[in-house]
Amino acid sequence: MENPLKHIYIYSCDFPEINFDALLGYVRGTFRDIEVERRKDFFTHSVSGINSGLDILAGRLAGIKVLNPMKEGLNPDPIYGEIDHEKRKILNPLSGAAGLFYDGIRLQSILYPAIKKEEKVSGHLHIVITDRLVVTWDDYDRRYHLRAGVFGQPSVISTSGIVEAPAKPREFYILKQFAGSGDMDVAELKKRFNGRFIDYGDSRITGVMKGYLAQAIFYHITGDPFCDDTGCRLFNAHWQEEMIYAQIGSPYEFCERHKTIIEDYRIQIAKLENPLPSPFSTCLPTGRKGEILLSPSLAKRG
Ligand SMILES: [Zn+2]
Repeated sequence: MENPLKHIYIYSCDFPEINFDALLGYVRGTFRDIEVERRKDFFTHSVSGINSGLDILAGRLAGIKVLNPMKEGLNPDPIYGEIDHEKRKILNPLSGAAGLFYDGIRLQSILYPAIKKEEKVSGHLHIVITDRLVVTWDDYDRRYHLRAGVFGQPSVISTSGIVEAPAKPREFYILKQFAGSGDMDVAELKKRFNGRFIDYGDSRITGVMKGYLAQAIFYHITGDPFCDDTGCRLFNAHWQEEMIYAQIGSPYEFCERHKTIIEDYRIQIAKLENPLPSPFSTCLPTGRKGEILLSPSLAKRG
């Protein structure tokens, strides 16, 4: 472990459904010895004030929109209205997700150059929380999939993705087809399924977000953010009910394997920061801090 993870930067605007004190406290408590810093929305923090660059940035964001989830391809020639929408969203990040899809990998490649050079080095992890809907292309079934998290540098976690990416119970979709046509509307339907999925503005998003932060951190530390244990925070949930169980309902935080990985990581960091004294240092006189004074007979000649 040459350069252990030491700094995490969490970028987000003030989404009312997220309790950031709880979120940061969780990361600090779980991954001790890692400094966690809350920052403003990524664009506000990194590129605000660059008015001349605003048009270019807005154009690039409009250009990574996915227009057809069934067809690989982006939006290489965005029109004025699309660029203008992105400009307004950059300047007012709380203005809503607008139901647009963005290629998550391309989004990372737009964000990465805006990170300061000294914070791009290993040991630093940037996590961007956004309400934009992010998707990634899957070569296996030849379509885009919505994601709650896209991990890397920076990792992107989507609040809308937490709501939309894992599927709601099957019965919900069946009944939704009839909602509006009879005596039940969608709001009523959601009430009936209360607790079985996370909705927009849901305060449980904070609890769920803890797991996605843990996944981003595990991706950085081990290269693998996921676990097969349904009760572990690293479980890769495809259904809302699975996600709620792994993040809120499970009686434990991490499975035994991942608990051990966290404990081992803490021990290794502690060793790096407080290396054990050399057995010789206890019997040899020392000079400046850490320097062992060798007697002439022990000193290397030549
Ligand atoms: Zn696990």
